[in-house]
Amino acid sequence: MDHFGRNKIKDLLKSHESFVGNNVIVKGWVRTKRGNKNVAFIALNDGSIIHNIQVVVDVQNFDENILKLVTTGACLKVHGKLVESAGSGQKVEIVAESIEIYGTADAEIYPLQKKGHTMEFLREIAHLRPRTNTFGAVLRIRHAMAFAIHKYFNDNGFYYIHTPVITGSDAEGAGAMFRVTTLDAANPPKKEDGAIDFVQDFFGKPTNLTVSGQLEAELGAMALSLVYTFGPTFRAENSNTPRHLAEFWMIEPEMAFYEITENMDLAEDFLKSLIRYALENCYDDLEFLNEMYDKELIERLKSIVNVDFERLSYTRAVEILEKCGEKFEFPTAWGSDLQAEHERYLVEKHFKKPVILTDYPKDIKAFYMKQNDDGKTVRGMDVLFPRIGEIIGGSQREEVYEKLYSRMKEMGVSEKELWWYLETRKFGTAPHAGFGLGFERLILFVTGMSNIRDVIPFPRTPMNAEF
Ligand code: ATP
Ligand code: MN
Repeated sequence: MDHFGRNKIKDLLKSHESFVGNNVIVKGWVRTKRGNKNVAFIALNDGSIIHNIQVVVDVQNFDENILKLVTTGACLKVHGKLVESAGSGQKVEIVAESIEIYGTADAEIYPLQKKGHTMEFLREIAHLRPRTNTFGAVLRIRHAMAFAIHKYFNDNGFYYIHTPVITGSDAEGAGAMFRVTTLDAANPPKKEDGAIDFVQDFFGKPTNLTVSGQLEAELGAMALSLVYTFGPTFRAENSNTPRHLAEFWMIEPEMAFYEITENMDLAEDFLKSLIRYALENCYDDLEFLNEMYDKELIERLKSIVNVDFERLSYTRAVEILEKCGEKFEFPTAWGSDLQAEHERYLVEKHFKKPVILTDYPKDIKAFYMKQNDDGKTVRGMDVLFPRIGEIIGGSQREEVYEKLYSRMKEMGVSEKELWWYLETRKFGTAPHAGFGLGFERLILFVTGMSNIRDVIPFPRTPMNAEF
């Protein structure tokens, strides 16, 4: 019994030996009620575990007006005895002694009255979808992965650093940004030349929601050696794909004294350890998702944990793609960015395992990536996964002041705005590297769900911010 005076259904189902014969109290939401004139069976779920507990009601002992209110979606407190179940399908059940109704759910209008809704419909009722088996499973796995991420870094000597959500620079290079302002949109103050006068705005300058915590994380790494961020990031691109959100969570470790190889080693070990954690700690939920959505899910997760990721250069990958004879929607040519279809071909068809690509053409990557001696490529690395494509993007960073400065000039990145970033290369610079893992892309992979809107409680996408 916890301090709210209830037994968690998870405890009753998982450790039933120690509860059988006891009086227990459960509180939760009705999933189904069935039965006849004499006996009713209520399946109750409290979110502690995917499985329901069966409550058996001897109808003659209860007020029929109360039992009428026990419908799908209603919230109940049930007091009774835990007994071994006579029926098949469950080991134990509760013989109800009293039922109190916390909240009814009118069967005529409760949207989850019936099973089998489409994912699209469930997105329209994001305020209720956590009560489905699917979203219960996804949300528990999401929690477990967030915990495993903090645990992994803590166990490996990294410090969690909180980087700002509101940023004064719009030159981070990772994507279009959302403006943050308190100016009156209908009537903003203007300068003499007619431009908006941001000096009168809240921060005295234009500000945006961050697209990445990396630049600030680098400042942390130049003092604490091993740091990571884990927070919300925002991209204002109008990309309606199953793999993009306007608001998503990103994990960004940044390591002083790591070069590209150590960066790859860390990314590979990190991903494997997270997937291993899911297999060890979320098995009931994974089994459910495996059964309902993706029959190869558990096998796929197990295979990743045991395989060496393939490592090769971008240049080699383009050669493979050019020679493979596969028809792609977008052509491949050295110098252009790989599309998801190319990434997935390499991973799913050619190598049949995760792939880490390195040494990209400098013109398709950000200004801060370490320049190779060939003058053409930079030490970027992307980790590509089956079904997902890019799950991690990272690089060794350019630590030489002059090289970084001239690359910023070439790419039109304002050295005035990023003066503080440049100063890390002026004072005690060090080789360093890091990467960004998109949290929802990880959850997509671990749950086997097919749309990123279904692995975050309240997805933010173009034209969608209802809940
Ligand atoms: P993509 O090419 O897939 O659009 P990107 O190269 O723009 O991604 P990065 O800037 O490298 O992305 O961000 C690091 C990681 O953050 C990506 O590898 C991916 O896992 C995740 N990510 C990037 N953009 C999004 C988004 N809009 N929604 C969800 N996750 C994202
Ligand atoms: Mn990337």
